[in-house]
Amino acid sequence: MARYTGPQCKLCRREGQKLYLKGDRCYTGKCGIDRRSYPPGQHGQGRKKVSEYGLQLREKQKARRFYGVLEKQFRNTYFKATRQPGVTGENLLRLLERRLDNVIYRLGLGASRSEARQLILHGHFRVNGRKTTIASFMVRAGDEITVREKSKETSPRIKELLERAADNTPPAWLEYDAENQKGRVVALPSRDQIDTPVKETLIVELYSK
Ligand code: SF4
Repeated sequence: MARYTGPQCKLCRREGQKLYLKGDRCYTGKCGIDRRSYPPGQHGQGRKKVSEYGLQLREKQKARRFYGVLEKQFRNTYFKATRQPGVTGENLLRLLERRLDNVIYRLGLGASRSEARQLILHGHFRVNGRKTTIASFMVRAGDEITVREKSKETSPRIKELLERAADNTPPAWLEYDAENQKGRVVALPSRDQIDTPVKETLIVELYSK
């Protein structure tokens, strides 16, 4: 599974806003963007003028980094969105939201999307009772997400995350049953239920060139 392994805070600084890539650290005073709120690199504090293409590119990079998706997979997701009925930009965000790593994170069962991805890869989760180790797995309405029984007993981190999920409020399209330690996809998300800070129309403009 290809993934970005470089510095995370650098990505937030490049996009000029918090992307919450490092879990709990993002809410502390150690947040990279709070310490240095300018773009990384030698010219980070220099030239500010951005072209129209630059704006479109930044929105695409921001969305990609927010969900932790590499370029090829993001582009494939975009083309999948263009083939669906409805507004392409909204379809794109909906597809990204439906990724299993995002759903686990939104349910509070991972402190960040990257942690969720690692836990999925290590086989800690079940979708409708079946072991699923693919972070890009697309959930459907009605799917049930549970934690492997053995992980609940043996993994201290999973125990912590189950407590975290019990205190977490997921978005309206998801629900979490703390008593039975079970998440469920109530319905596919609508645009107003997706709080991703991107202007998807700019991404569509970029890929439509
Ligand atoms: Fe971004 Fe701050 Fe989290 Fe670093 S700590 S990943 S800068 S939100």
